[in-house]
Amino acid sequence: MPGSEERALGVHRVLEPEGVLPQAAVRLDAAPAVGPDEVRIAVQRLNLDAASFRQLSESCGGDGAAVRSAVLEIVAARGKMQNPVTGSGGMLIGVVDAVGPESPLGLEVGQRVATLVSLSLTPLRITDGLARWDGRSEQVPAEGTAILFARSIAAVLPDDLPDAVSLAVLDVCGAPAATARVVARTGARSVVVVGAAGKSGCLSLAAARAAGADQLTGLVRNDAEAAALSASGLADRVLVADATDPLAVAAAVGRPVDVTVVCVDVPGAEHGAVLATAQGGTVVFFSMATSFSAAALGAEGMAADVTMLVGNGYTPGHAALALDLYRSSPGVRALIDPRVGE
Ligand code: NAP
Repeated sequence: MPGSEERALGVHRVLEPEGVLPQAAVRLDAAPAVGPDEVRIAVQRLNLDAASFRQLSESCGGDGAAVRSAVLEIVAARGKMQNPVTGSGGMLIGVVDAVGPESPLGLEVGQRVATLVSLSLTPLRITDGLARWDGRSEQVPAEGTAILFARSIAAVLPDDLPDAVSLAVLDVCGAPAATARVVARTGARSVVVVGAAGKSGCLSLAAARAAGADQLTGLVRNDAEAAALSASGLADRVLVADATDPLAVAAAVGRPVDVTVVCVDVPGAEHGAVLATAQGGTVVFFSMATSFSAAALGAEGMAADVTMLVGNGYTPGHAALALDLYRSSPGVRALIDPRVGE
């Protein structure tokens, strides 16, 4: 029997293989009965991580029904929504409907919450066959149950924002927090955000500005995104380049910058990001499509003395920071709202 520390991490829900934590598990026990230290959420909506959704859509040739079947199969087989190719998950919102007597999370039955731990480690059961989802959006209306462990974090949903917005912002709230922390700690002034017109990208630009950086560059994929980013006023300079083309990224960026933040949802952005970063600078790889070996070996091959950070989805205060940036920045709202249909 696992002890309370192990239970707090969810080890008791791991079915296979033995001895790993839930994130690394192939299969979790998603049974809805709550243990003494667990919380059960009645699920209302999932937010699939952007890299996962893109991979599923592309592998299904854009066929929404096939994407829906793929998600249902993954959840049924794994007891959690973890894309087997990208390894990533997303997060969810719902209503607290059972709280074990020893849960330390401070949640109450009836509260509407967003989970701030990845779906890749959250026991999940879907009971409606995702009948209300067409398989064409990252946000998935869903019914079912999810389980939080004693160390799983959750945020009570704010009353002043639409659920779809809260879900989208909270899913990527680690990016602005990581950006703000690096800029503040290093005193960086110049920052490039790769994938800057996306959700995590625009929040990272706003966070960098608030943390003191004053030469902000947003790199985007095409002219339409460039126009939207320019209109938002979040960046001092907007560049169009394919993030997966390292020489094009380096040529577009020109003089390398103090900090590069990678917020694209496609693989292959590692080398361009390293080339865009000055010696002694920092690259934050928030993208879940990042390859550790491509980043590390690529930097070695370029003799690039850069600090490379994996964008941890958790930083204390990350949820409040991201929601406040959304509330206070018209430019962030202008870029995020169309992506969530607001
Ligand atoms: P998003 O809103 O879809 O933004 C991604 C942006 O990258 C989009 O503007 C996209 O353009 C752009 N892009 C795609 N391919 C590009 C290319 N080749 N060159 C230049 N730009 C390109 O995604 P998001 O929700 O912000 O998520 C971004 C990444 O963060 C994903 O990889 C996701 O998995 C990851 N993530 C990490 C964590 C964590 O804890 N570390 C948590 C959540 C998400 P188009 O829209 O035109 O395709």
